[in-house]
Amino acid sequence: MSGAEARLQQVRAAIAAAAREVRRRPEDVTLVVVSKTHGIDALRPLLDAGWREFGENRVQEAETKWSALKAGHPDLRLHMIGPLQTNKIRDAVALFDVIETVDRPKLARGLADEMARSGRRPECYIQINTGEEEQKAGIFPEAADSFIETCRNDLGLPIVGLMCIPPADEEPSPHFALLREIAGRHGLSRLSMGMSDDFEVAVRLGATTVRVGSAILGGR
Ligand SMILES: *Cc1c(COP(=O)(O)O)cnc(C)c1O
Repeated sequence: MSGAEARLQQVRAAIAAAAREVRRRPEDVTLVVVSKTHGIDALRPLLDAGWREFGENRVQEAETKWSALKAGHPDLRLHMIGPLQTNKIRDAVALFDVIETVDRPKLARGLADEMARSGRRPECYIQINTGEEEQKAGIFPEAADSFIETCRNDLGLPIVGLMCIPPADEEPSPHFALLREIAGRHGLSRLSMGMSDDFEVAVRLGATTVRVGSAILGGR
């Protein structure tokens, strides 16, 4: 077993343990292996071991890395987890199965138009800037309710849940709890929260998707 595969199994075991602590089912938590910056050689052991859920933060990099592999592995599920520029919408809708970073009205409208044009409808998450950090993407909490309603009701986007990246220097729990509260108000069942340093906390607070990179693949 490769180092990455062994670490993948350790992370899976830790997710399962955290889920059981709060009487959740381990299989209700999806682990997305964040493969950004890592070449396919580093990912090959995970693919060979049958892993199919990966996250990328740049459209161009993801296309180079995954386009050909997707043709051979139709069960691959690629998550877009980085800021999405409007001029990359067409490529993103074509490649990704999940877009976790719907974070502004112009992007939401562009995604709706492209989904109508192409007929492809990747699952979408709305990114909430729970820490209200100016330099970070995401809708501020006070604007979340109306943005969620616009995306679902006016634009008809397939919104399945919410995503957040807590401030790096803060205790993450209040941010995870806030994300869950906002999702609950809208009957949204999916929460993408938790990274290498805090995925167990996130699972205990209801994460249905955790995005883990360095704890599995090492430093970038
Ligand atoms: C890079 C990244 C991750 C993974 O971070 P690690 O600390 O390496 O696990 C998760 N989510 C997003 C949005 C990222 O950009």
